[in-house]
Amino acid sequence: MTATLPPSAPRPGVPHPSQPVRHADAGCGTGGPGVLAVEDPSTGETIAHVARGGAADVDRAVGAARRAFESTRSTTPADRGRALRSLAAALDADREEFARLETRDTGKPLSLSRSEIAGCVGYLDYYAGAADKVQGETIPVGPGALAYTVREPVGVTAHIVPWNAPLSMLCRSVAPALATGNTAVVKPAEQTPLTALRFAELVEGSGWPTGSVTVVTGLGAEAGAALAAHPGIGSLTFTGSVATGRAVLRAAAEHVTPVVTELGGKSPQMVFADADLDDVARQIVVGFTANTGQYCDAGSRLLVDRAVHDELVERIVARAGALTLGAGIDDPDLGPLVSAEHHRRVARYVEIGRSEGATVATPARDLPERGYFLAPTVFTDVLPDMRIAREEIFGPVLTVLPFDGEDEAVALANDTDYGLGAGIHTRDVDRALRLAGRVDAGYVMINEYFGGTTAVPFGGTKLSGTGRERGLVALDSYTTSKTVVARIGGSQPWT
Ligand code: NAD
Repeated sequence: MTATLPPSAPRPGVPHPSQPVRHADAGCGTGGPGVLAVEDPSTGETIAHVARGGAADVDRAVGAARRAFESTRSTTPADRGRALRSLAAALDADREEFARLETRDTGKPLSLSRSEIAGCVGYLDYYAGAADKVQGETIPVGPGALAYTVREPVGVTAHIVPWNAPLSMLCRSVAPALATGNTAVVKPAEQTPLTALRFAELVEGSGWPTGSVTVVTGLGAEAGAALAAHPGIGSLTFTGSVATGRAVLRAAAEHVTPVVTELGGKSPQMVFADADLDDVARQIVVGFTANTGQYCDAGSRLLVDRAVHDELVERIVARAGALTLGAGIDDPDLGPLVSAEHHRRVARYVEIGRSEGATVATPARDLPERGYFLAPTVFTDVLPDMRIAREEIFGPVLTVLPFDGEDEAVALANDTDYGLGAGIHTRDVDRALRLAGRVDAGYVMINEYFGGTTAVPFGGTKLSGTGRERGLVALDSYTTSKTVVARIGGSQPWT
């Protein structure tokens, strides 16, 4: 089951990294050294305090995970599948509580949290089914010899998670890690640790040895850096920004720890004149505003056939203007950005866009008085070398660039350091498949932005990262291949 660590320095009212959160209104106090405040971004109010874990906490967590790993070595893949299935059922039973907690922590609309939690149940279920299907191979080497490979767990896996979809990103990598016989140490983002802590409790109650999933809360530069540099981890999955990804890769290099990086994006959506513009307008708006633009694969760069540029922009602006903004718990179309700091960053990009000479096509609108809200913003008259066209903004901001013909569409699409998602909207199947082959992206979506399921691999190229999550291919990141060769029957087989 999971993982609770012995508290290093228990203090009344202060949760330890591995302990469930205490809400501020439950008497946690106002915080202090060694404690991090957790805010509801819809209001700016502190809703909880969690411990500010450091290197010693990480070390204990890795030790607990190692002991749990040793104790699970005797379990069968089918045992693990059953245990993951019961964890999925436990999460499903508590899904409304998890969704509400996620919404308070991130500000995202309640229905979006509900669908992300349903996705978490899906990850656990999917990898429960995969647990007893991880196989090696036999290699024909002739008479008198045997050669085969087995897939073995890497041991303790580390998971550094961002704030934009906290439990979803956790389950995406922890589920395949557990399915393949590993244990996990998780460092959630400091802004959004609450569902991770609650999830660790749930694991504890679902039949896994203590230490199987341990959560260490804390700052990236402290707990995160200590986890990335720890010699006791067999693999690291990092989801977050490019800058942090680089730091994590450097830290992991010291122990040659294999790393999966899932990083940022500036994903293009290409729209051709033959597409159904009303449906496309809906998808473009979802693509750049879902989760208030805080998805790594947000379709934040619209590339549109010049012939339909004005008509499409008009439809997008109308749809974006009709979106409701409000506190996540009231289930609006758009919640706030995750924090005051992130709000400043995104608002600054809107200023940069204006100063670069781009035009804001969306009219000004009233925003909720409290919380970190920003209206969906569409920029036209954008040039490819403007910062707003090149840098990941991670907010509800769309840049629009016209193109003339397929070649220019592809050139603009690929004119980025990133390579995560790409959308292609056209009724011409030949063109869609041709362009899918030409665009530099790890994940191409034709006529349905954000299409795909748990079974479909996801990941990036270029600065968007390495490795793949979801699907059966993700199991490779949490196993290592061992080869066994044997001489049998006294012959000399290796010729
Ligand atoms: P971030 O890089 O600031 O933080 C991510 C995690 O890394 C957090 O837990 C943080 O505490 C930790 N961290 C920070 N500094 C660290 C260090 N020196 N060593 C180890 N860990 C450290 O990212 P963020 O702002 O939380 O998330 C937004 C970014 O994540 C965006 O760029 C987004 O595109 C990306 N993202 C990518 C995917 C994907 O699948 N490709 C999914 C979600 C988010």
